[in-house]
Amino acid sequence: PGEGADLDARTKSLDRNHVFHSWSAQGALDPMVVAGGLGCHVWDHAGNRYLDFSSQLVNVNIGHQHPKVVAAIQAQAAQLATIAPATANLTRGEAARRIIERAPAGLDKVFFTNGGADANENAIRMARLHTGRDKVVSTYRSYHGNTGAAVVATGDWRRVPNEYARGHVHVFGPYLYRSEFWATTPEEESERALRHLRRVVESEGASSVAAVLLETIPGTAGIMVPPPGYLAGVRALCDQHGIVMILDEVMAGFGRAGEWFALDAFSELDGHGPDLITFAKGVNSGYVPVGGVLISDAIAADFDETVFPGGLTYSGHPLAAASIIGALDAMEEEGIVANARRIGAEAIGPGLAELAEKHPVVGEVRGLGVFWAVELVADRDTRAPVPPALIGLAKKECMARGLLPFAADNRLHVVPPCVVTDDQVAEAMAVYDDVLTILDREI
Ligand code: PLP
Repeated sequence: PGEGADLDARTKSLDRNHVFHSWSAQGALDPMVVAGGLGCHVWDHAGNRYLDFSSQLVNVNIGHQHPKVVAAIQAQAAQLATIAPATANLTRGEAARRIIERAPAGLDKVFFTNGGADANENAIRMARLHTGRDKVVSTYRSYHGNTGAAVVATGDWRRVPNEYARGHVHVFGPYLYRSEFWATTPEEESERALRHLRRVVESEGASSVAAVLLETIPGTAGIMVPPPGYLAGVRALCDQHGIVMILDEVMAGFGRAGEWFALDAFSELDGHGPDLITFAKGVNSGYVPVGGVLISDAIAADFDETVFPGGLTYSGHPLAAASIIGALDAMEEEGIVANARRIGAEAIGPGLAELAEKHPVVGEVRGLGVFWAVELVADRDTRAPVPPALIGLAKKECMARGLLPFAADNRLHVVPPCVVTDDQVAEAMAVYDDVLTILDREI
C-alpha cells in the first residue's frame, strides 16, 4: 500500500504540473487517480476500488478491460497498427459492416471520425452540401461536441464562449418535468414542442434550413426520453420541407438505451428513421478513440461523382476498427444489450422509483436501459433545483462509500456499464439511499 500511495501521489503531481484538463478552471482541480479497471470497477494504485456508475463519460458500455476487445486491439496492433484512410482495409470494412447491419435500412455507408464531435461536424457538412442550405436547428438542452459547428449546435452553456460558427438556431425540446410549454401530459408536451419547432423552422424560412439535429435521447442535458410522437413528428416536418434529419446517438447508442440504436426504442420511427446518424462512445466503449456518421443512400449518392470535402488522417484507424469488431461481437455473443434493457426495466427503474418515493430531495426519476437521471430538488412543489453545493456533497458521499457517480447540473445520472449485474445495482441503490438520506436533511 505504501508504494501504491506513492504512485498515486506521483500521478497527481505529474497531472497537476503538466496536464491541462477539459472544461475546467485548472487551479482548483483534484482529479481522481485511476490506475486500473475491470468490468464495472476501477481502482487507484493504493487499491481503493470504486463501483463505476458513470461509465466514465457514459461511454464504457462494455465495461472496463473486456478481454475480447483488448485481444482484438492487440491482434490488430501486431498485424498492422496504422494505415492511411485512402487504403482499403479488411478490419475497417468489417467494422463498418457490423455497424450497418444493426442500423435502420437505407443507411449503407459509414464515414469514420476520431470521436463524436467530428462525427456531428461532418454530418452537418453533409446536410449542408446535400441541401445547399445553411441553417442547423438543434435544441438548447443538448451537447453535440466541442469542435466548430458541433459546439455551436450544442445548446448548453458550453456553446456561448465558442460561438464562431454561423447558421445555428436553437429550439426547446420536450421536457415535461420542466415544460417550456405549460404542458401537463406527455401528449401535450409532444404536440406543443413540435408546434414550437415547426414555427421556428417556418419563421427562419424552411427553405434555409439544412438540418434538424437532435440527440435521440438528450443525455448530458438530463436523459429526457422524448414523448410519444415527437420523433415521428420531427421526421414528418423534415420530409415536408426537404430538411435532413440527423440523430446524434453518440451517448444514447450501442446498448446505453437497451437497444443497439436508441431510435429502436421508438416504434413510431419504424422504417422511416433519420437521414444521418452520428455515433461514438459505446460503439467500442472508447478503448480507442473513434466515432462516425452513418449515411443514407441518397446523401451518399451525392458524393458518387462529386468530391466529399472532408477527411481525417485517422479515419477508419485499424486499431479503432478492430476494437469496434471486438466490442460489437462480444456484445452480441454475451447478450450485453439485452442485459442493459432487462436491468433497466427490472432493477434500476424499480430501484430508483422506490428511492423517489422515500426521499423528498428526489423530484423525478426517468430513463431506460442503463440511462437514468435522478433529478434533485430543494422543493418538490416548485421543483427548484438543489444548489451546486449539494451535488458536490452527493458526489463526495458516494465516493466515500465506494461508488463512482455521474453528476450533471442538479442531477445524478445512473449510467453504469451495460454489463452491470443485479447485485451491483442493489449495492449502488443502497449507496444512493444513504446519500439521499443525507441530502434530505440539507433541504
Ligand atoms: N454528442 C453527444 C450526444 C455526446 O454526449 C458527446 C459527448 O459527450 C458528443 C456528441 C461529443 O463526443 P466526443 O466527446 O467524442 O467528441
